Formats: sequence, structure tokens, C-alpha cells
Amino acid sequence: MTKAVSKPVSNPLSQEAREALRKAFGSRVQFDVPLAPWSAARLGGPADALLEVPSVKDLGSTAMWLWEHDMPFRVLGGGSNVLIADEGVDGVVLLNRAREARFFEVKGQPAVWAASGASFGALARRAVAKGLDGLTWAIGIPGTVGGAVVGNAGAFGGDVATSLLWADVLFPNGRVVRLDARGLGLGYRTSALKTGWLSGVVLAAAFRLHPADPEKLKARVAEINEQRRRSQPPGASLGSIFKNPPGEYAGRLIEMAGLKGTRAGGVMISPQHANFFINLGNGTAMDYAHLMCLVRRTVWQRLGVLLEPEIQLIGRWPEDVLSCLFDPLPVEPPALLLGGVAPPPEE
Ligand SMILES: Cc1cc2nc3c(=O)[nH]c(=O)nc-3n(C[C@H](O)[C@H](O)[C@H](O)COP(=O)(O)OP(=O)(O)OC[C@H]3O[C@@H](n4cnc5c(N)ncnc54)[C@H](O)[C@@H]3O)c2cc1C
Repeated sequence: MTKAVSKPVSNPLSQEAREALRKAFGSRVQFDVPLAPWSAARLGGPADALLEVPSVKDLGSTAMWLWEHDMPFRVLGGGSNVLIADEGVDGVVLLNRAREARFFEVKGQPAVWAASGASFGALARRAVAKGLDGLTWAIGIPGTVGGAVVGNAGAFGGDVATSLLWADVLFPNGRVVRLDARGLGLGYRTSALKTGWLSGVVLAAAFRLHPADPEKLKARVAEINEQRRRSQPPGASLGSIFKNPPGEYAGRLIEMAGLKGTRAGGVMISPQHANFFINLGNGTAMDYAHLMCLVRRTVWQRLGVLLEPEIQLIGRWPEDVLSCLFDPLPVEPPALLLGGVAPPPEE
């Protein structure tokens, strides 16, 4: 007999905590705010509290205040690599809008410094407009500099690890530590901040650049834009859902398992790129998780490859959903996750 999906463990902010937040931040703090508008997939439940931080200074002082008051919080950048639970998120969500950026030189070499809330793709475009290469690979990657550092974002042969000079990370003891790729533990779409091994807030980061032939840069940008246009489906999504296993593409495996076009509720595995799941408009985070579980189990059963999620699940998720997606071997999914999946349409 299959068991029903379990209830998520939840530890919402107390009334006292809400009062303390109101007193400290006044009308800047909002309560029980739906996060879907800040998710690239346009789904997810409410945050207990939401605070927008407009500058690096504000991001740092707000994080310190929350640590000192023992209130759980999470920084949200572009929301393009996180699946936010329908049941919402415990504690405070800091919407990072610290967007300052400056071009400078290190030992005669061009570089760029950016606040962690700056758009990473826009930063890459600004560098190209100045005739500078080094971040061109990042054109078209949604989200912020902070999110890119945490996930070691990468594309077209580049990644944060190879372009990063340093990231300034604030720790709960109030120290800001300047860390390079090694110090951050950057690996394929991961870091010590993503795994939780380090618990800090990325305040800003600097990237090395180098002068390049403007015509060649222009051609490279056109090539990258064209490749993204051809390979990536339009619509609300979180980009690649699973990491590519060594020497393989997750999308190819999902396609080989016959799952392209499969739907769960309002979310569909893209018929164009099987590692992209599209919210058709009325999708829920549980629909997303539903499809992820199905994909992980089917690819394992049919092809013997265990896929590892690239996206993070944040908020109030039931334990059995998390274990279905992250356990070293796929367990039998809870009943709720097995129902309501429509097979792909006939070719
Ligand atoms: C259409 C599409 C295409 C994509 N293409 C690519 C691609 O080519 N390559 C690629 O690597 N990714 C790609 N992605 C995934 C995503 O854009 C990247 O992972 C991106 O770097 C995430 O940044 P973000 O600001 O949206 O992070 P978020 O999703 O907001 O956050 C991700 C994680 O980082 C944490 N975080 C964010 N900011 C901070 C901070 N300042 N301090 C501490 N923690 C922080 C969050 O708490 C969360 O744990 C794509 C996504 C989409 C939707």
C-alpha cells in the first residue's frame, strides 16, 4: 500500500518576532507575501516576512540584525534556481536589490565589481559593450551575481569559478571574508554556500575581464543568443532542473526515457528541451516536484542513471518529497506524487 504524502514541518515566525520586525523595519517589512511574482517559474507560497534590501550596506546590516535576533532568513536573488514550496517559507526572505557595479583595474588588467543583487547577465552585457571579454559566456543567464556565485553558474564553456576574482561574504560573527573560488568550494553548479557547509551572505563579487576585438565579441554574443533561442523553450521555468551526469546530458536522458511532453497538473516537461519544466500558467510547486520525482525514478529504472537536482527546494516541503528527490537511491514516491501524471502526447 502506498502512503499519502506527509505534512511539511513548519516553524513560522512567532507574533513576538513579527512585532520585533515591525518595530525595526517599519513599513519596509511585509508579512505573508506570496513569492510567486519573484520566482522565475511564477509559483510558490508566501514568505512569513519579506524585506527588500536596496544596497550592499542594507543587505549586510539587515542580515546582521536577523542573525542577532535569531530569525531564520534566506536571500532571494532572481528566484531562477529555487523551487519555492506552495506551503510557503519559514522566516524572512530578503529580496536582494543591491545593484551597484563598477569597472576597475587590478594590476593593469580590467575587472568588474558588482553588488550581489546586480543582474549577472546585464553585467556581462555591460562588459561586452566596453569591449571586454571574460563574462561573455554569462549573457542570457537569468538571476543575480549572488545567485550565480552560490550556484557556480556556467554556460558555453565558462563558469563563475574560472572568472571570479573574489566574493565578499558576510558571516554571522559580523566578519566579511574575501573568498576566491577555492575558498567558496565552487564545483559543478555548487558551492559550500549552496550545500550549507558555509552559512554566509554574498555581499558583492569581482570578476576578471580582458580586452577583446569588438567585432569578434559581437559575433560571439550573436552566436550565444542564437544558441539559447534555438535550444531553450520560452515560458516560465527554472532552467535546467537536473545536473548533467558526467559525460551525458540530463535532457537527453529524460528524452530517452520517453518523458518529453509529460505533464503533471499545470507543469510540463518541455517538448523542446526535456530538462526544462514549463509552468503552463496554473502550475504549482508540487506539480514541479511531482514531475521531478517521476523523471528521477523513470530515468533510474529505464537507464540506470540517478539524476541529481540542480535546483534547490526551499520552504515547507514534506520530508517524503525531499527524499524522493535527494535520497541516494530513489524511494517509492508517495501516492500523491504518482497520481495525475499525463503521458506525453502522441508524436
Ligand atoms: C531560462 C533559464 C536559463 C538558465 N540558464 C542557466 C545557465 O545557462 N547556466 C546556469 O548556471 N544556470 C542557468 N539558469 C539557472 C539560474 O539562472 C542560475 O542558477 C542563477 O545563477 C541563479 O541566480 P538567482 O539570483 O536567480 O538565484 P536564486 O534562485 O534567487 O537563489 C539561488 C540560491 O542562492 C542563494 N542566494 C542568492 N543570492 C544570495 C546571496 N547574495 N547570498 C547568499 N545566498 C544567496 C539563495 O538563497 C538560493 O539558495 C537558468 C535559469 C533559467 C530560468
